[in-house]
Amino acid sequence: MTTVSYSSFVDHEFLSVHIVAEYAFCPRSAFNLLTGAEVASTGSFREGRVMHNRVDQPTECTHRGAYVERSLRVQSLVLGLVGVIDQVRSYTDGRVEVWEYKRGTQRDAHTHELQIALLSLCYRDETGVTPNIGVVWTTGDRRSRRFNIASTLLAEAEQLVQNVSLKRQQGTPWPRRPQSACHGCIFRYDCWSENELSHL
Ligand code: SF4
Repeated sequence: MTTVSYSSFVDHEFLSVHIVAEYAFCPRSAFNLLTGAEVASTGSFREGRVMHNRVDQPTECTHRGAYVERSLRVQSLVLGLVGVIDQVRSYTDGRVEVWEYKRGTQRDAHTHELQIALLSLCYRDETGVTPNIGVVWTTGDRRSRRFNIASTLLAEAEQLVQNVSLKRQQGTPWPRRPQSACHGCIFRYDCWSENELSHL
């Protein structure tokens, strides 16, 4: 399979997994990332990009009995979806693990699970093999969390892609999602007045 850098996987025809997963967290944030190039200059976005650039060196090797592929570009022609998997670990007993590395600590658990499910759909459509384990590794607390990639999770991810595809055809900004995470969001002052923010 072809591998590309993180910065080049955002495709104008295909939806990126990053945007679809962000939609699950907050539709407005996903819309801003999809349309607003100005965010690329902000500190936290740059920090995330730097971390990914560090991880995104395409390699293959074996590690503890697993065949490991890093920074693997995957796409689904059926779904019109493209992304880069941080790591795929394939074992001889049939286990296929999809690993994602995140800044900070273990939170937004379901959003992370959906992101791995979206990447797994791309991997499945490209290889015919459906990954069965997801692993989220967070650098802040150096913890990993494992979960089964259930068929219900894959179905939810597919539905999410369809929702975002439909939304993309609309020109209006996607809705905000008030939540405590707004306080740390780079878009908070575009979304809310200081008074509104203090009540979230
Ligand atoms: S501030 Fe809140 S509503 Fe606005 S983009 Fe960020 S998370 Fe979404």
